[in-house]
Amino acid sequence: MTKAKQPPAPAPAAPAPAAAAAKLSETNRLKAERLKDMLETKYSKQREDTEEMSRRRAELEEQMQGMNLNEAQKKKYRDELGKLEAQSRREGMRRLTTDDFTPLSIIGRGAFGEVRLVRKNDSGEVFALKSMTKEAMVHKNQVGHVQAERDVLASADNNWIVGLQFSFQDDINLYMVMEFLPGGDLMSLLMKEDTFPEGATRQYMAEMIQAVACVHGLGYVHRDLKPDNILLDWQGHLKLTDLGLSKKVEIDAGYFGATPEDLNVNAAAARLDTRPLPDRKATHVRGQTNLPRDRKLAYSTVGTPDYIAPEVLSQKGYGPECDWWSLGVIMYECLVGYTPFYADDPVMTCRKILRWQQFFDVPDHISRALSTSCMDFLLSFVCNADSRLGRTSMDEIRSHPWFAGLDWGALRAAPAPYKPDRADQIGGLLEQIRTLDARDGRMAAAVNQLTSNFDDFEEEDQSRWGGQKKVGRRDKDNDFVGYTFRRAAPGARGAVATSLFSAEGAAKAGGA
Ligand code: ADP
Ligand code: MG
Repeated sequence: MTKAKQPPAPAPAAPAPAAAAAKLSETNRLKAERLKDMLETKYSKQREDTEEMSRRRAELEEQMQGMNLNEAQKKKYRDELGKLEAQSRREGMRRLTTDDFTPLSIIGRGAFGEVRLVRKNDSGEVFALKSMTKEAMVHKNQVGHVQAERDVLASADNNWIVGLQFSFQDDINLYMVMEFLPGGDLMSLLMKEDTFPEGATRQYMAEMIQAVACVHGLGYVHRDLKPDNILLDWQGHLKLTDLGLSKKVEIDAGYFGATPEDLNVNAAAARLDTRPLPDRKATHVRGQTNLPRDRKLAYSTVGTPDYIAPEVLSQKGYGPECDWWSLGVIMYECLVGYTPFYADDPVMTCRKILRWQQFFDVPDHISRALSTSCMDFLLSFVCNADSRLGRTSMDEIRSHPWFAGLDWGALRAAPAPYKPDRADQIGGLLEQIRTLDARDGRMAAAVNQLTSNFDDFEEEDQSRWGGQKKVGRRDKDNDFVGYTFRRAAPGARGAVATSLFSAEGAAKAGGA
């Protein structure tokens, strides 16, 4: 018997460096995890759709029972329901592109792209559209993060997290279409007010706590809580956004340009580090020209490490409680007017955070003016992870004496500490923008007024808007499979069956 010819053995691949191999397998693991999540979401959605369909059928049958219809009439209604369902499925499947929106104004610029005020062409509705270039995201290893952000926003359905309406992509960019929050962000408000009184701070903190609890409830850790990621609605109540760093993916100080040597806090390493740490009070001089609150940092890719918890930086392992630390830092900033670990150099900020016991200090003139329970609360968030409030339950936080008498369930119903500019005109402006012709001279003025709580931005790079219109039937870009999303229209559940019995529906069905 002749031996079957064996294919030549493949030449042994050059041994990949261990680190590169580990990185590759980590990337593959993340991709596989994402695919699994996506399939799970897809199948659970299909299951829901099927259940919803049988529920609608049953509802229709029930409604027809009391109507004394003959079989032919019933069949007409059943057929009509089927037609309406098919139509809504077709609409749901159509891919959006930037051609479906008219860009009105740039309202934000960040690490990976821009946020624009846009008008949806078919409905005239106004949205905030965030675009992020795929290239930058792959390059900076943020693919998993952006997917997590889309996942959280898509699954969230509450008042504390910015609502995501659609997400789509073209060859160049990813896009998220979100509800537009006209009040601007908390960073702009802090720049305007400098500090908040204790009462206003308490109210914002309570709202932030509810919002963060929602993120945790969805199974995510935000990890990037800072004033520019906290947006205000037209009444001045807050919502969280920018969940681009959320989820349980490792983040290390290297992200901020720090090397292990930069951060090493033990004495031997400190001797090797020639850059001295600044004196604790030196950076906290009021009226200094180098303002600690700097918009530019918010626009840069690296961002600011000011709000990051020490356990996150030191890679000792961390949990949701790292978000409570960030809220503690934000609380300090609201009361004091700058962040507690501010330094010109982000690496220095990281080092100060790691040695927070040495650097954390509330100026005397501020602490004297605060209530004891306020100071106590601040120190129960800015402290070591193992003694931080909220480790065991949310009640631990909500029942802190600082919040005594607060109605946690009625936060959004109470007046907000600051009402955004032109709050009362916003409804009218939205209506104007919805109905005006895009070339109408009044359009620019309306857009200007609607975005008065935001900075002005110049148009920089056209490729960030519809740079490449080619869109495939599927998410063919392997890195971003499953990104595309469309939120079901509010009240869509059951709406089809109900509409059948409206005057129009009944006429279509041939009358009963
Ligand atoms: P980045 O990841 O680049 O920081 P963000 O999602 O934080 O992006 O958006 C950048 C800025 O754009 C925010 O700080 C805010 O001022 C503005 N912005 C983002 N989303 C909205 C929105 N839905 N409504 C109004 N403004 C928004
Ligand atoms: Mg941001």
